[in-house]
Amino acid sequence: MNLFDNETGHFTEEGLASLIAGNLDELQSLEAAEHLSFCDSCCGRYAALLTEDVLLQPEHPVTEPVMQRIQKRRNTIFFNRGLKVGLAACLALGLWLTGVFSAVSAPLQQGDFDRSSYLLKQEQTRISSAKEEMKSKYLADDEKPTTLNMQISDAVESFFATFTQKGETTK
Ligand SMILES: [Zn+2]
Repeated sequence: MNLFDNETGHFTEEGLASLIAGNLDELQSLEAAEHLSFCDSCCGRYAALLTEDVLLQPEHPVTEPVMQRIQKRRNTIFFNRGLKVGLAACLALGLWLTGVFSAVSAPLQQGDFDRSSYLLKQEQTRISSAKEEMKSKYLADDEKPTTLNMQISDAVESFFATFTQKGETTK
């Protein structure tokens, strides 16, 4: 049995089969190990032969559960992103109302407040309806929302409440 092909210097098919079957003597095993350590081509052939009999079919089809998990994950990401956008909008409006922006553009301050309060209301309506939609989508997926999400959501709501009160008392 020739372990190596005399012309190419790579394993013969026979040699590779013996290696996998464990039929090589000590010296041949050492030679084989040494060749595998530097020859990508033979290493690939060896791995292909090894994995051929290891690959098994799963007992139950996995495509459906995996797709469901992907869908759930996607909904979660969408929900979180929506909350982040909502928070960013809250912060921007909050800064606007507390006068950070109007201090920069002082001449425009007159009459600006009504406009920002109007915009806040509009944004508030838009965000809360979007939030409801996201919530229902999320819950429809038969999965309870995580506590963190709900905490953030609550924080957004109380955040809004603060500004609404502020807007009304300033009027
Ligand atoms: Zn080789």
